[in-house]
Amino acid sequence: MTRDELKALIRTVPDFPAPGIHFRDITTLIADGRGLAASIDHMAKLAPPAIAAVAGIEARGFIFGAALAIRLGVGFIPVRKAGKLPVQPIGVDYALEYAEARIEIDPMLVGEGEKILLVDDLIATGGTAMAAAQLLQQAGAVCETALFLVDLPQLGGAERLREAGISSHSLMEFAGH
Ligand code: AMP
Repeated sequence: MTRDELKALIRTVPDFPAPGIHFRDITTLIADGRGLAASIDHMAKLAPPAIAAVAGIEARGFIFGAALAIRLGVGFIPVRKAGKLPVQPIGVDYALEYAEARIEIDPMLVGEGEKILLVDDLIATGGTAMAAAQLLQQAGAVCETALFLVDLPQLGGAERLREAGISSHSLMEFAGH
């Protein structure tokens, strides 16, 4: 399945969760078995060599991140929303478009100097991915590459990651918000 065919499986929901936002809904893609498998095929081709683990961002980043980790034969590290981890986590607060959020990881899951690939379904402003990369780096990881299914380039997230030394790759782009 081509990237354009995958793009056609994404459902756009206007004005969700706020007026003016075009929500790019991946549930229609993952409900399609061939679409889900092809997404992971394409992401695996973009993964850098010799990574120690994949880190996925809750919640949709768990779907693609865990499947990709299995494909690459490495472990999976969940980047969780605040208050979910049963151990003492490290966390970071960051700004969303209309709110504040906090994500956390268990630093014990990260080995010093390990190369970790960051995965989420979509990059918009890049705030979430930057926060996740900072946390992984704080835990001792080398986080230099991030993979997304969807990029909204007009929101500048991929550029923001690049400026921080993290190369960003995606399977498709959508214009606007
Ligand atoms: P950001 O931190 O601005 O890059 O936002 C990325 C996070 O918010 C990802 O975890 C996405 O799942 C979600 N997100 C932001 N904008 C959208 C959108 N237009 N459609 C679907 N998900 C979005």
